[in-house]
Amino acid sequence: MQGQRVLLRVDFNVPLSDGKIVDDSRIRAAVPTIKALLDGGASVVIMSHLGRPDGRVVDGLRLRPAAERLTQLIRVNVPTTGDALGVGTDDAVRRLRPGELLLLENVRFHAGEERNDPSFAERLASYGDVFVNDAFGAAHRAHASTVGVAAYLPSYVGLLMEQEVEALSNLLDKPARPFAAIVGGGKVSGKVAVLEALIKKVDLLILGGGVANTFLVASGRSVGKSLYESKMVDDARRILKLAQDRGVRVLLPVDGVVAKEVTRGTEFKVVSTDKLPASWHMVDLGPSSITAIREALTPIKTILWNGPLGVFEIPSFAVATRELAKVAADKADAGATVVVGGGDSIAALRQLGVAEKMTHLSTGGGASLEFLEGRDLPGLAVVPTAGSPYETLPIIYVAPVKPGAKAASKRAPAKPKPIIKPSALDDEDDESDTPA
Ligand code: ADP
Ligand code: MG
Repeated sequence: MQGQRVLLRVDFNVPLSDGKIVDDSRIRAAVPTIKALLDGGASVVIMSHLGRPDGRVVDGLRLRPAAERLTQLIRVNVPTTGDALGVGTDDAVRRLRPGELLLLENVRFHAGEERNDPSFAERLASYGDVFVNDAFGAAHRAHASTVGVAAYLPSYVGLLMEQEVEALSNLLDKPARPFAAIVGGGKVSGKVAVLEALIKKVDLLILGGGVANTFLVASGRSVGKSLYESKMVDDARRILKLAQDRGVRVLLPVDGVVAKEVTRGTEFKVVSTDKLPASWHMVDLGPSSITAIREALTPIKTILWNGPLGVFEIPSFAVATRELAKVAADKADAGATVVVGGGDSIAALRQLGVAEKMTHLSTGGGASLEFLEGRDLPGLAVVPTAGSPYETLPIIYVAPVKPGAKAASKRAPAKPKPIIKPSALDDEDDESDTPA
């Protein structure tokens, strides 16, 4: 890496509120690769998108807050450019010295980014000698900064990408059994494919949130005014049948918290899911369901959790999500593998202060789900060695060279201290995790 100019794609698509970063998980997750490159003597030109500016400059979606956060995290000044391209940017890149870095402005301010326009990609590629993609959250889209630039530069994936692929591949390939998936969140649409894929892998499927409501309808209950998707009821029925055929246990809520309105301070009560009242909304799982989940998880050795069990943004309806977070933390403490994906699910864990206990927090929304479905992610597919997500990726380890240290020999580091692995990655993030 010494003396190389590295064009690094990261996923700094963080949730913002009033220009402030609400959750910096994705920035933190990119730090190991950034540090390894800087320590190795590279100069680093970082690219990211933020939100959906649709090819226009949107001041509220500038990357400056992310640069400031990164500066705090790595204690190295992170200058930003006013534009991903242009004379000023060309100049700033040319002046970069080994060990220095620069964050290009939001690449989605250019229409060529999402179109994967070759000339836009070529101009971005001119900023590096090599390309490193560490944007797992964007690996399911083929855009200029994720896939396009790989046509012009030797390409690698970063440490986060490697960690994500390893953690998710392990779930699919060799989970310690019994293996449980817990799927909650608002909607089934978008999760049908992953549910179908998971039914073939897990021993237990636990459903919560709005997702469970659709399954309750599929199993003959009425859910009143609760969020559910009538168009997905047939899919839910098919998944239940699939589970039955394969002997997979499915845990549906036996009771729930119903509310007059989905707002703070509204009236609410616990009822059986066999008698959900017509004019109320089911917004959380009830105490009997929570107990059933806790019991069902007792023998479980591997947990995959995506989606909160209720409307956790409202504290009164966050009870089941909180309880599950505690159980998951205890399980992880006791040696189980616990992988959590999804922006809202991880936000709930952070609120409780148990996020760090989990085995792995997946930074990808849509990318994690597509990976678990077994689909090829364009960002990985452009890497010749990456192959199918069901195979473990061959990794090339490059020990970071610290100033004053002897040049790394070819010995494999004891606990893999991998740096980069050849590839070109790509893509963008999950619809539902787009910053407000
Ligand atoms: P993640 O971001 O972890 O993947 P999702 O985006 O799929 O999770 O779902 C999170 C959303 O689901 C939250 O906004 C939450 O309020 C909503 N939700 C959960 N349970 C319900 C429910 N019973 N009714 C309506 N919305 C729900
Ligand atoms: Mg979400």
